[in-house]
Amino acid sequence: MTRVVVIGGGATGLSTAFWSLREGAEVVVVEKGIVGWEASGRNGGGATHAVSPLFAEEQRLWPMMDDLLGYPTEYQRQRVRIGLSRRQLDLILEGVTIARRQGFVAHELDNKALRELVPFVSETAAGGVLLEYGGHANPQRTLQAYAWAVQDLGGVIQQHTTVIGFETAGGRICGVRTDQGLIGCDVVVLAAGPHTAQLAAKLGIRVPLAAARAEMVVTEPLPLIRFGGADGNGVYGRQTLRGNLAYGGGPHEWIDLPDASTPKPVNSPVMQSVAKRVFELFPKVAHARVIRSWAGVVENTPDGRPILDRLGAPDNLVVAGMSSVGFGLSPASGRAVMQLALNGACDFADLAQLKLSRFDGLAGDWAEAAGWVPWTREGAVA
Ligand SMILES: Cc1cc2nc3c(=O)[nH]c(=O)nc-3n(C[C@H](O)[C@H](O)[C@H](O)COP(=O)(O)OP(=O)(O)OC[C@H]3O[C@@H](n4cnc5c(N)ncnc54)[C@H](O)[C@@H]3O)c2cc1C
Repeated sequence: MTRVVVIGGGATGLSTAFWSLREGAEVVVVEKGIVGWEASGRNGGGATHAVSPLFAEEQRLWPMMDDLLGYPTEYQRQRVRIGLSRRQLDLILEGVTIARRQGFVAHELDNKALRELVPFVSETAAGGVLLEYGGHANPQRTLQAYAWAVQDLGGVIQQHTTVIGFETAGGRICGVRTDQGLIGCDVVVLAAGPHTAQLAAKLGIRVPLAAARAEMVVTEPLPLIRFGGADGNGVYGRQTLRGNLAYGGGPHEWIDLPDASTPKPVNSPVMQSVAKRVFELFPKVAHARVIRSWAGVVENTPDGRPILDRLGAPDNLVVAGMSSVGFGLSPASGRAVMQLALNGACDFADLAQLKLSRFDGLAGDWAEAAGWVPWTREGAVA
């Protein structure tokens, strides 16, 4: 039986574990904290990634996940996208065109039709689109569902266990070193979110990822809108089944990785900016109080696309870095990573554009050149 050691108990790692167990592998998930405690349990819950080669599989799998996992994810299939201005609406329609080309259906809405679906929306909004695809799920529920399903299938999840290095022999990883001891392996999946870069570096592999904080705000409960998901104006999110609006958005705050190990409390200017944009979108509920907020850390590749790759050296390592789109894609990315780990290739999507080697010629200072650098008091211009 193949022994897969998955580093990281986020959506990517747990989904990989779930699919690998279904194929009969032995699986150990090693998580430095508790499952879903980092970005995977803190995000907007969106599952609409039309530019990804995994989009068709994302859309195929989500409606089945509650049954497959045996626990609820609160997935809802439809979503309304709102353009407050004509420019915002045109950008939304550009994304819709990409999905339509793949056979997905969306209906354009004028302001009246939009307000029938989302009564809170601004009376001056340019319009919107009802997507018959995409949708959203509850991140906390989904991560719990993945973890329970992994345990039900006999997988081992070692929480509060930090990976600190690797044992290698003959061009392969033969053991994963943790602060609790050595774990033997046949294949290793590195799905440690922003920490993927640091861990890969221990094997001499450069994975270009920049870490950034993103924030979410949650309002008190409001009357339920249809489909639960309506966003735009630079914020993404969903309405919970209880009625809370849970929304997030930029600007990203670039951070040093040591800071990323525990997301710091929210930074109030970012939180205020997210709340302001939510209430511009929904002025009729601008009286609603923000009752909760949190920050999470996202991992960003230079081109914004995930890295999903089984490397040549060592030849039993799969790198899975999701570049800020990892929650929605997780049913599909986990299945793809399982196939890379167990079969060496993915048979349902072309992952060529997600290979790590696309960054081979990347300059060492790529993050600085992009301006993706943490703000420091010392570096600030007086
Ligand atoms: C506010 C916010 C909103 C977002 N909105 C969306 C959205 O709407 N839709 C979407 O698709 N994506 C969204 N994202 C991005 C998404 O959450 C991430 O891309 C995704 O969760 C990444 O999952 P992951 O499992 O790859 O990484 P993570 O969730 O970061 O999990 C990695 C795990 O590895 C563990 N780990 C790290 N180092 C070690 C080590 N040395 N040893 C053991 N374990 C280790 C960590 O503790 C962590 O639990 C959002 C993110 C944030 C923060």
